[in-house]
Amino acid sequence: MKRREFLTKTGTAAAAAVAASALGAPAVIAQPKYQWKMVTTWPPNMPVLQTGADRFAKRVEEVSEGRMKIQVFAAGELVPALGVFDAVSDGTVECGSGAGYYWAGKVPAAQWFSAVPFGFNPQGINAWFYSGGGLQLWEEVYAPFNVIPRPQGNTGVQMGGWFRKEMKTIDDFKGLKMRIPGLGGKVVAKAGGTVVLLAGGEIFTSLERGVLDATEWVGPLHDLRMGFYKAASYYYYPGWHEPGTCLEVMFNKKAYEGLPRDLQLILDTVAAETNLWSLCEFEAGNGAALQSLIADHNVNLLQFPEAMMDALRKMAEETLEEEADKDPMSRKVHDAYKKFKAQVGIWGTVADSAYFKVIADEYQLKKS
Ligand code: CA
Repeated sequence: MKRREFLTKTGTAAAAAVAASALGAPAVIAQPKYQWKMVTTWPPNMPVLQTGADRFAKRVEEVSEGRMKIQVFAAGELVPALGVFDAVSDGTVECGSGAGYYWAGKVPAAQWFSAVPFGFNPQGINAWFYSGGGLQLWEEVYAPFNVIPRPQGNTGVQMGGWFRKEMKTIDDFKGLKMRIPGLGGKVVAKAGGTVVLLAGGEIFTSLERGVLDATEWVGPLHDLRMGFYKAASYYYYPGWHEPGTCLEVMFNKKAYEGLPRDLQLILDTVAAETNLWSLCEFEAGNGAALQSLIADHNVNLLQFPEAMMDALRKMAEETLEEEADKDPMSRKVHDAYKKFKAQVGIWGTVADSAYFKVIADEYQLKKS
């Protein structure tokens, strides 16, 4: 009914425009039928994260031929970074962009859909979402809040973070003040660290002033831009706490369900396309940025010691079980995640990880 009414109106407007132009009168530009607002957790212009949200909105407008227009607001412009989920849930805005672990206080099970310590890499989490039932489970988790989630990006395997001192043993986490979100933060707390959750815009100053001893953010592409090398000189890998973080777009249920089916599909399809684009941007940019950090900024690139990784893995396993025990939905999600991880892990070990070990000697970072 709505769609027929819309088509009739469009037809009338088009006919009027043709008539107006035939008479030499100025063409009337039709207003978009759906005007939405999107709020995000990202600082303005932050590459791939905020620009990915901007790109999403622009492409929805293009693909819908102007029927749908989404105005994007960066963190703090309309609502605070950590208020995005609530704004979408209560219908203040129609959609938002962020990462599930930012809403852990309200929706504990959301954490599994962003990043799990020693969990999925990007291939694994995307396989889970699109081919392993993960997205349906995610929809179930957000349903009580009237929010519909979609994967909208992936950072790839992140870096372990920036530290003001060298990290030699697991005991070096004791008393360490570190900005680290999500389940990874809970593992650092278990190791004796003091965990601080700060949105992107506040991290550098805190690190520089020594309010933080360490921080993680994303990977070389973003970390270089944030200038963390000016405040901490030890740069550790791998990002065990975020091995393939999924970024999300969320739609208010009522707003989404009020759209004609083709616009819903446009939102879903552009989200999936942005998910792919985002991972490609990280993959394409991280290597050169890492080289620049080493050669131009004299950063000490170090791998976490093996014994420290073993200890953190054990603590991560305990943490995940404890978190899963806190509510039935987290337990359901954790068990499904774990089952699918075992399935893709068997293949990933034989395929990607074995392959990269073989060709690893081709890639050497150069000091200036
Ligand atoms: Ca991170």
